[in-house]
Amino acid sequence: MPTETRTTCPYCGVGCGVIATAADDGKVSIKGDPDHPANFGRLCSKGTALAETIDLDGRLMTPEIAGRPAGWDAALDLVAEKFSQAIAEHGPDSVAFYVSGQLLTEDYYVANKLMKGFIGSANIDTNSRLCMASSVAGHRRGFGADTVPGTYEDLELADLIVLTGSNLAWCHPVLYQRIAAARARRPTMKIVVIDPRRTMTCDIADLHLAVRPDGDMALFNGLLAHLARSPVLDQNYIGAHTNGFVEAFAAASSLSMADLIEATGLPAMQIREFFALFERTEKTVTCYSQGVNQSSIGTDKVNAIINCHLATGRIGRPGMGPFSLTGQPNAMGGREVGGLANMLAAHMEIENPDHRDRVRRFWNAPTMAERPGLKAVEMFQAVADGRIKALWIMSTNPVVSMPDADAVKAAIAACPFVVVSDIVRDTDTTKLAHVLLPATGWGEKDGTVTNSERRISRQRAFLPPPGDARPDWWQLAEVGRRMGFAEAFAFASPAAIFAEHAALSGFENDGVRDFDIGAYGDIDDPGFATLKPFQWPQPAGTGPQETRFFADGRFYHVDGKARFVAVDADVPVRTSADFPLALNTGRVRDHWHSLTRTGKSARLSSHLAEPFVEIHPDDAANLGISDADLVRIESPHGHIIVRALLTARQARGGVFVPMHWTDEFSARARVDTLLPSITDPVSGQPASKHGAVAARRFAAG
Ligand code: SF4
Repeated sequence: MPTETRTTCPYCGVGCGVIATAADDGKVSIKGDPDHPANFGRLCSKGTALAETIDLDGRLMTPEIAGRPAGWDAALDLVAEKFSQAIAEHGPDSVAFYVSGQLLTEDYYVANKLMKGFIGSANIDTNSRLCMASSVAGHRRGFGADTVPGTYEDLELADLIVLTGSNLAWCHPVLYQRIAAARARRPTMKIVVIDPRRTMTCDIADLHLAVRPDGDMALFNGLLAHLARSPVLDQNYIGAHTNGFVEAFAAASSLSMADLIEATGLPAMQIREFFALFERTEKTVTCYSQGVNQSSIGTDKVNAIINCHLATGRIGRPGMGPFSLTGQPNAMGGREVGGLANMLAAHMEIENPDHRDRVRRFWNAPTMAERPGLKAVEMFQAVADGRIKALWIMSTNPVVSMPDADAVKAAIAACPFVVVSDIVRDTDTTKLAHVLLPATGWGEKDGTVTNSERRISRQRAFLPPPGDARPDWWQLAEVGRRMGFAEAFAFASPAAIFAEHAALSGFENDGVRDFDIGAYGDIDDPGFATLKPFQWPQPAGTGPQETRFFADGRFYHVDGKARFVAVDADVPVRTSADFPLALNTGRVRDHWHSLTRTGKSARLSSHLAEPFVEIHPDDAANLGISDADLVRIESPHGHIIVRALLTARQARGGVFVPMHWTDEFSARARVDTLLPSITDPVSGQPASKHGAVAARRFAAG
């Protein structure tokens, strides 16, 4: 009899519910879960094709040491021995974990516990650093905690949706579908898209602002100054619930309209139209994603957006508020358990001695990390200069995804001991590992993920693990036991890990921290098996809550107030005479990350079959480039060779190259080899949306 399993899509941060049916002959069929509150049965092209991406071709099935098959005991013993040896000889900060938003929360929790509480270093960071670290930092500055105020329902209730740095139609397609459906029901809803490119999302936009790269911060600063002079400025709200308005307004109001036109590249008429629309529409949601986050001024951009919502009191109420969209399926879950080098579990802060003490006592930890660890870019720089002696990479491919990717590749190749856990045998990163550990993938593993609206959902297994593959949490716990921490890592199941994580979130909390799911602190295996999707917070003693944060005007800074943040950084200019084109990077509709899964589907691959560069026809003509020519794109850091796609969707003076293709696919296709390792100084997030390149027609030979 075919059995139906309710699980969650493993791709984007929308976190759609999926019903997977495994037939007796092994065939799997997929449909959207009509009862899941993220998607109500909808799926996008990637979700619909999930069954086409779960064959075992290319899977890593057995542990390997130095390229040869090995047993689990030998591999785990070696990992524990090499990490212990590095710690003994060079100290705890000589080892590092680089993890992933693909991991389940339970995997993340065990990795974080091992590194921060038992190894005694905070050198655990995640590829989510490349995705939403600026939003985390902006939330903490503005709200006092990493809290996403709203819910998906707000997108349907809003009268104005501002999408900035977000190609929602391709990157969060089911949310796009929900908004498009809401607009069809209520045509008065307005949509503004702020993006240097005319993306598919602009198909439903009333106004597209083709802003200069990084010009969006000046735009929101200009908006704050405009709102401050308008009757919609909510003096009562500002006085009762915020601090810092005067300083933020002073910074914002220093920009004249001429400055704004210069910084944004937009005509005055469009700027005024946007300001007027925002001013007159109380129910406004501002959604932002990687175009805001992946910037050297990303955190300031996030706070510039939050400032505008605080100034009008448009936060914590239905249909309004700033709304950060997470890229990966479990970027939010990683944040909850301290998957970032500067955070502890349960949204506690590593630099806060009370928080450290609380976690230490809860874990009975022998050696708590006392200071933040290395963020992603810093971590690979430390690998390069020899400070990191042992590195464990889980479920991610930094040789493709890190900026200055060739330098990262060289650093990993020179590291004395590299472990890679993955589901795929041959990636650009697995090739550099001393030890390979086969992980279970989607459909084979059990645990939880959290989506962009703070909704925790189960991923459930419906397929047997292939070969010797094991869950990441199990691998980490086994290494922890072998390093001498048997009691702390005696987890019998993902349910036991989830229960500990939930109990920690409620431990001595009393509502003083935002993340609390203490109601699940005693969940057992049967309870975990039937766990329904729910939004946090859910403290002990409460029932399910579908809630917005900040409805009562109380925030998580010690005085209970939100903070305006004065932001006035200059818009960075990266282009030069030698590298005159601004490089933008991003996703395509039907692929996910480095193609290891979506690349298996002929249907998905047929949408855009090869790596390409979008270039404006006028720029192409000046460079002697015709449509479909091969083009060499060059920066001071490297070069790639991709197909030219001439389109007026791309603004003059810039190019767009998707992030997905790897050297596994074509000899020079990794766009991240072109990007400098420039990061936001607050969040440490790389500026992956804004590089500088030159382009010329490529002639083989
Ligand atoms: Fe999966 Fe995202 Fe598509 Fe939903 S929108 S089906 S979570 S890729």
